[in-house]
Amino acid sequence: MSPFVRRNLLIPFSTILFAGLLYCLMYWVPALKSQMQHLEILVISLLIVMTLVVMLFWVSLGVFGGLTCLLLSMIFIYRPLTDLDPYYYSVLILAFFLNCFLGYYIHRNINKSDREYTVTMEKIHEDTNLIHEHFKNRMAEISAMEEKVNSLLKLKEISDELSLSLSSDEIIQIATQRTFDKFRPDVRVLFYLKDEKGDGISLVDAVSADSRKQKGMKKGGIFERWVLKNMQSLLVRDVRKDYRFSLNEDEKNEDFISLMSEPLICEGNIIGVLRVDSRREEAFGQHDLRILDIIGELTAVALGNSRLYRRTEELALKDSLTGLYVYRYFMERLEEEVQRGLRSGNPFAMIMFDIDDFKKFNDKYGHIAGDIVLRNVGHVLKSKISAGDIVCRYGGEEFAFVALGYDIKKAAKLAEEIREDIENSPVTIRREEKNITVSAGVSVFPDDAKLREDLIWEADRRLYQAKAEGKNKICAK
Ligand code: GH3
Ligand code: MG
Ligand code: MG
Repeated sequence: MSPFVRRNLLIPFSTILFAGLLYCLMYWVPALKSQMQHLEILVISLLIVMTLVVMLFWVSLGVFGGLTCLLLSMIFIYRPLTDLDPYYYSVLILAFFLNCFLGYYIHRNINKSDREYTVTMEKIHEDTNLIHEHFKNRMAEISAMEEKVNSLLKLKEISDELSLSLSSDEIIQIATQRTFDKFRPDVRVLFYLKDEKGDGISLVDAVSADSRKQKGMKKGGIFERWVLKNMQSLLVRDVRKDYRFSLNEDEKNEDFISLMSEPLICEGNIIGVLRVDSRREEAFGQHDLRILDIIGELTAVALGNSRLYRRTEELALKDSLTGLYVYRYFMERLEEEVQRGLRSGNPFAMIMFDIDDFKKFNDKYGHIAGDIVLRNVGHVLKSKISAGDIVCRYGGEEFAFVALGYDIKKAAKLAEEIREDIENSPVTIRREEKNITVSAGVSVFPDDAKLREDLIWEADRRLYQAKAEGKNKICAK
């Protein structure tokens, strides 16, 4: 029961108590009962009313109000009481005082418990607020945690996607697009790769929601140079206020206010720069930079793997001495060209070269000199390759050249050119220039043969014909 309810019960309770007290007096003392006159009834009623008023004052105005009211009541009831029987009168007064002080006592206790109640309520409020605050903090922590988990899941997706790809172009495209997805919508992502020759970088991919201008961005700017030099990630919250960088006029007019830039480091070497910028100031914080850092590391590892794969593939497919394709790869490619030729009807030529008297050369100058000759021939052959052509080291000192779209006439001309080039590219052995010659046999698809083996056989046959006709020549029929 609240103090407020108890306080309101006090008045009817006191009144009933007072009335009950009077009734008992009159019931148990018959002498009083017989003496009861009209005036007594009036006095009793007055006393009841006054007690009520005193109680009311006590309750609403506290001790001071209650006491003042008690005094005033005494003055009001003084007059009628003087006319009563002194015995009866003193009992009534006693009941009145008893009632008043009982009221006061109850009131005091209620006030006390009221205060306690208020203190308890305040404490409960305080505790509730604390719990509420704690709950709010917990909720914020949970949503931050959720965000972190989502972020990690996204990073895992990116990592899976990057690790599945072995093509550099695809890795660059995935990294650029996924970085944009992570920081969207109002950002621009630029992917730079280090130039193979020189210290510069070149823009290889870019993504932005609106088509932002990339003028002046093709070779990177002051921020990329900083990242390249320091090999560290960079966070610029507002380019206009960052005094580490003094921008030139062009850079001041660029279409961004804040940016972060991440070096892509593979085996201790910087291979590129991944940059995210925005037109908003303070668009990125340390947390964003950490995420870009992870994406950058994953991308660098994926690019490193792709390069390693390419190198391994090249080692498996290319001859280490001449840099030309090996026999196995050549045969696969030649079969592909035959199949394509059968579908399209497009011709292509097959030229088989063989170095003349190479055994004698080896015997005279040694194997190392022979290797120099092989490398030199390979070099000349490579210089004659057009798009789609296939050149391989077919055997020890034999080379095969597939020229796409060539008929017999054009192929014979090409073979003759190569023969002349080799003849005119002497190798220097023991400070002496030695001229090397080759012979060649030419066959064409589909006129000479429609099967890979037949085509090779025909070219080989013509090559031996050239050898038989005195070497250092080509034979195309
Ligand atoms: P022909 O003019 O009839 O072609 O005579 P040839 O001496 O060139 O032909 P032959 O087939 O008799 O000799 C090929 C030589 O090529 C034998 C071998 O020692 C040499 N040879 C093969 N592979 C290599 C290589 O990788 N390095 C070197 N230095 N020599 C090689
Ligand atoms: Mg040979
Ligand atoms: Mg030979």
